[in-house]
Amino acid sequence: MKTTYLDSNATARIAPEVMEAMTPYLTEYYGNPSSMHSFGGQVSIKIREARERVATLLGAEPEEIIFTSCGTESDNTAILSALAVRGGKRRIITSRVEHPAVKALCERLGKQGYYVVEIPVDSIGNLDMDEYKKNLTSDTAVVSLMWANNETGVIFPVEEAAALAKERGILFHTDAVQAVGKIPINMKNNTIDMLSLSGHKLHAPKGIGVLYLRRGTEFSPFLVGGHQERGRRGGTENTPSIIGLGKACELAALNMEIENTRVAHLRDKLETRLLELIPNSRVNGNPATRLPNTSNISFEFVEGEGILLLLDEWGICASSGSACTSGSLQPSHVLRAMGVPFTMAHGSIRFSLSIYNTEEDTDLVIEKLPSIIDRLRSLSPYWKGERLCATAGNAG
Ligand code: PLP
Repeated sequence: MKTTYLDSNATARIAPEVMEAMTPYLTEYYGNPSSMHSFGGQVSIKIREARERVATLLGAEPEEIIFTSCGTESDNTAILSALAVRGGKRRIITSRVEHPAVKALCERLGKQGYYVVEIPVDSIGNLDMDEYKKNLTSDTAVVSLMWANNETGVIFPVEEAAALAKERGILFHTDAVQAVGKIPINMKNNTIDMLSLSGHKLHAPKGIGVLYLRRGTEFSPFLVGGHQERGRRGGTENTPSIIGLGKACELAALNMEIENTRVAHLRDKLETRLLELIPNSRVNGNPATRLPNTSNISFEFVEGEGILLLLDEWGICASSGSACTSGSLQPSHVLRAMGVPFTMAHGSIRFSLSIYNTEEDTDLVIEKLPSIIDRLRSLSPYWKGERLCATAGNAG
């Protein structure tokens, strides 16, 4: 059966060009870039080239790029570094809808005596800017706000938020793992101090990330060891993946236009048709400020997991907005923060597209999903209850 992959926010397919760029550095050119000999030296040249390519995509300087092992490491490094360099300050500002890479760290820091403020969002996922401004107090060490949400695609005004933090001398970090490669980013036009990205969200391999660190920003490394990355991140470089990431960044710049036109069009058509065909469904997240590839749709009175299992029978891959925690299905913290009603939040599905998707992929979902929802609803006591109420209402 053909796989129809609509889960690129979870992880994206490796671009063939990326694979081709990496392969020689997994096989022939295995030297250590720190070695004195020219066999290692030629690898070091390729790392320099990759660093330049990442910097170009971000509108940054090559020396502002630190290679890490993933988005999670970049997020952890940024926040822990800010706390270390702003030693006396123990307040952290973040949002209610961050990825666990930020959220879980902040929760742990909260238990260690830091004061963590989670800024709320409204019903369509917009950050409460008034609440944010109110909380920018002088004892704040760092703000960490995501650029784009992984579940809904909603984009936060991080550049504006960073400018406000800057005025008050507060360090600003953004988790841009879902934003990089999908929307234009130019670090020359903002005052963000630190930014995280992850290779596997932009068609590079898993296990490679970047922390952008603005020149002049005080920094305390997370991993100490060798002098790699100018002493800012110890550990022998993941050479093939770094080279792959460089290529992926080059491709992302070329493909951004497609992402924002063809991919956005596919996403919009998918959404419009599903909402037309399936009653009691709705889109979650501000439709005006969203990533072009992401759609989060709730189907009332069904379980997301049930939908995913039945989609899987047709080879369709997507994600649900609920997580199975200790045996009970909890709607995601993102949808809960947005106040999405319980009966809607439980049946939410995230479709996340990429440049490799075609109309055939979205048409398959449009063809199969309505009957899947019908089938699940026919088993749902809640749906039957809703129908009875609706009928009774009509009769009355
Ligand atoms: N931040 C966001 C917004 C993400 O979506 C993810 C991955 O899903 C991460 C951080 C973590 O990235 P990684 O898987 O590279 O650790």
